[in-house]
Amino acid sequence: MAPAFRSADEEAERDALYMEAALRQARLAQTAGEVPVGAVVVCGGEIVGRGYNRPISANDPTAHAEIVALRDAAQRLGNYRLPDCTLYVTLEPCAMCSGAIFHARIARLVYGACDPKTGAAGSIIDLYAERRLNFHTEVVGGVCMEACGRLLSQFFAARRSAKAVAGKEGDSGD
Ligand SMILES: [Zn+2]
Repeated sequence: MAPAFRSADEEAERDALYMEAALRQARLAQTAGEVPVGAVVVCGGEIVGRGYNRPISANDPTAHAEIVALRDAAQRLGNYRLPDCTLYVTLEPCAMCSGAIFHARIARLVYGACDPKTGAAGSIIDLYAERRLNFHTEVVGGVCMEACGRLLSQFFAARRSAKAVAGKEGDSGD
């Protein structure tokens, strides 16, 4: 009989695979001109929710990748709680998304790049280490960190150079 446990290698391999799916969602955000962050919710080895960052196009300040993916999974599973699910997201969640992750009772969070501006899993604050909160989600960070981070830094570099060009054009117009 095969052993019931999974080796650490197998788990890391599986995490990288689902993070690839989250990265595909992030690229959809990029195509839409939004900050490229993507997320998937996995339950029983199956992707049950997908989402990408789209606050601008949705006119919705809460439309972060995690929230969109959680809503998608909850609708699909017909349950506002997702206790046996893992959420994969390309960027460390903010405080809002972490709150939603706790309310959804997500068992495990896997994220890619750290967010030094709004990260709530250790970068700015660590809500996941707050023992006074009534629910706790296991956290793994830094999965496919380079690919996740590269997508973001390329996006911001392109936006900066577009702004610089627009600035120059503005100058010459006077
Ligand atoms: Zn968020």
